[in-house]
Amino acid sequence: MKSLKENFQLGRIVIIGSGIIGKFNALELSELGFQVTIVDPTQHQNSSNAALGLLMGNIYQKRRGRSWDLRKQSIELWPQWITFLQKFNYELNIEKPLIQLTTNKEKFKKLEKFIHENNDLNLRILERDSIFIKNINKAFQTKNLKGIISFQDGRINALSLLKTLDKYLKYKKVNFLEGEIIKIKKSNNQWISTTRNNENIKSDIVILCNSLKALDLLDNLSHNIKLKPVLGQAMEIDINDAEVDLLSLPKQFNINGKNIIPKSKNKLIIGSTDEYSTKPEENIFEKLTDFLDKTPNWLIKGKISKKWYGIRSKPDGEPSPIMKNFEDGLILCTGFYKNGFLLAPACSKWITNEVKNYLY
Ligand SMILES: Cc1cc2nc3c(=O)[nH]c(=O)nc-3n(C[C@H](O)[C@H](O)[C@H](O)COP(=O)(O)OP(=O)(O)OC[C@H]3O[C@@H](n4cnc5c(N)ncnc54)[C@H](O)[C@@H]3O)c2cc1C
Repeated sequence: MKSLKENFQLGRIVIIGSGIIGKFNALELSELGFQVTIVDPTQHQNSSNAALGLLMGNIYQKRRGRSWDLRKQSIELWPQWITFLQKFNYELNIEKPLIQLTTNKEKFKKLEKFIHENNDLNLRILERDSIFIKNINKAFQTKNLKGIISFQDGRINALSLLKTLDKYLKYKKVNFLEGEIIKIKKSNNQWISTTRNNENIKSDIVILCNSLKALDLLDNLSHNIKLKPVLGQAMEIDINDAEVDLLSLPKQFNINGKNIIPKSKNKLIIGSTDEYSTKPEENIFEKLTDFLDKTPNWLIKGKISKKWYGIRSKPDGEPSPIMKNFEDGLILCTGFYKNGFLLAPACSKWITNEVKNYLY
């Protein structure tokens, strides 16, 4: 990232929220030389820490409009950021490819149409005799799975990325304050963010990256933004069946909407669904394993070794994400109910441009 390091010493920026969006913004802005402070009461208990890290860019079927533009930009930016961040964690990488499978004939027809219409060499229909399909059908004891492969999409280890960002932000001496902002107001041309402990933090710019809670800090009447909570759940399952070798499967794939990540010969992660609820469900095992007409026995007999969930925010009445510059040094970046990891680089680029335009 040679073009960075412009050294904007004058701008003081407060980022509220330290999920992937807040941290990624802090990365780019601090690399440019801005004085960044991040504020968050619980940086390890957010939806970013629950994410599986799948980067679904090219596989996205709508190839026009703002959503595709953001994806396209992120797809281009990710390899550059990975190279940059490898200085702080040489193991950080994007595991490719990504496979999307369905047992539904109509859905498969749509996937075929998408591949034929787009003529993208990085996307292919998986042939019946491909080793991926053969191994997945064998493991899941079905013959009906069909789908596509995207060679440029994949997965980043979400927790490892968040830790690497922490390392970088520490190295850059980015100020991290453990606290909850309960009020923001503008006074004498500067922003004052007040914590629950009554501390005031002054800055030229405030960036709201605090997901659902952004609404609490905005004057709803004048800004008219609506967000809904969306539950996402995941679990790690131990398999006790000598016949099954999960390592024969691709590194990450999606069957009928469920993301599956084999971790070892007998351990796999399954997530995540979109549910309009704010509490995890009791029957998470049944919910997350119910993606085929007949669940294979080895999966039914599996035991949950870990389960977790996160609540993300979905815009109500407008597309995701919401990125708004209120023109007075207040910027909003929220509503990432999906794809926060994929979109972080493009959104952070947008914010950086808005910050530069406002200050200079
Ligand atoms: C199970 C699951 C699987 C997922 N899988 C994927 C995936 O594979 N790929 C992908 O791209 N996305 C995935 N996602 C979605 C992804 O997690 C989100 O898009 C992303 O985490 C949103 O990040 P964020 O920074 O906007 O919000 P969050 O990570 O929720 O961060 C918001 C932060 O704001 C802080 N905050 C709130 N209020 C205040 C306040 N008043 N003052 C200070 N701080 C405050 C909170 O403490 C929190 O840390 C998944 C989500 C879940 C739950």
